[in-house]
Amino acid sequence: MKNLKLTGIEKGRGKTSFKVGDITVGEDFVVIAGPCSVESEDQTMETAKAVKLGGGQMLRGGAFKPRTSPYDFQGLGLKGLKILEKAKVETHMPVVTEVIDPRDVTWVCEYADILQIGARNMQNFSLLKEVGKAHKPVLLKRGMYSTLREWLNCAEYILAEGNPNVILCERGIRTFETYTRNTLDLSIVPALKELTHLPVVVDPSHGTGRLSLIEPMSLAAVASGADGIILEVHNNPKEAKSDADQQLTPEQFNNLMKKVLKLRKYMTEEIFSAGEGMN
Ligand code: PEP
Ligand code: MN
Repeated sequence: MKNLKLTGIEKGRGKTSFKVGDITVGEDFVVIAGPCSVESEDQTMETAKAVKLGGGQMLRGGAFKPRTSPYDFQGLGLKGLKILEKAKVETHMPVVTEVIDPRDVTWVCEYADILQIGARNMQNFSLLKEVGKAHKPVLLKRGMYSTLREWLNCAEYILAEGNPNVILCERGIRTFETYTRNTLDLSIVPALKELTHLPVVVDPSHGTGRLSLIEPMSLAAVASGADGIILEVHNNPKEAKSDADQQLTPEQFNNLMKKVLKLRKYMTEEIFSAGEGMN
């Protein structure tokens, strides 16, 4: 593919991996989980503790929400970031949070361990250039109408500004299908692995928008070779101020995690010793 000068696979260029807290993204399988939005201290703290207990390694939560309607909950902004900071102190989980405005990047970096660029901003080039200058890893979501080529070019923008630590996140694309919120394009995971050295994570929450589909698609994401998953979990999903229909309860998250870890173990373990079980 043309012009993937920094994101493309080249001889002598290894897979991208980097440390965030205790986790090596790109090597360890990473589970990022937490509420869609930071709504209050109690909600975030309770959810964060449940995520930690269930085996999540990083906390997600939006303080700036890019909503379809201007009248919907827009996030708590700075107050939300301060809540995330408290949750981080309490649980020792690094924080993944979205930035939607280039003017906010510098100060959001004081609270975020990973900066999320949302699907709606994937091709916001001034925002990409700004996070490209930041000293924090970037989780770049796939735009809902974007091709693989367009997406990788957006990652290229970030790397070209000097930030090598980009995680690509498949979160579903718009198709004619309406039963699911989006169509989770899992074939893009091995396709990306053929073209780029960057780590890839999958978001089955936005990718399906349906509770019953999140666990099977999380397992499918593991099987596809993804480097991690990002999931929405809420201590009381029914009362959530955004994405109420797709947030897992702590109990659902727990059950899902048990299966994810089992499958992951199965995939990384040598099942047969040499020669055994081959005939
Ligand atoms: C989110 O992760 O909260 C979010 C808004 O996702 P996306 O940008 O993929 O719609
Ligand atoms: Mn959401």
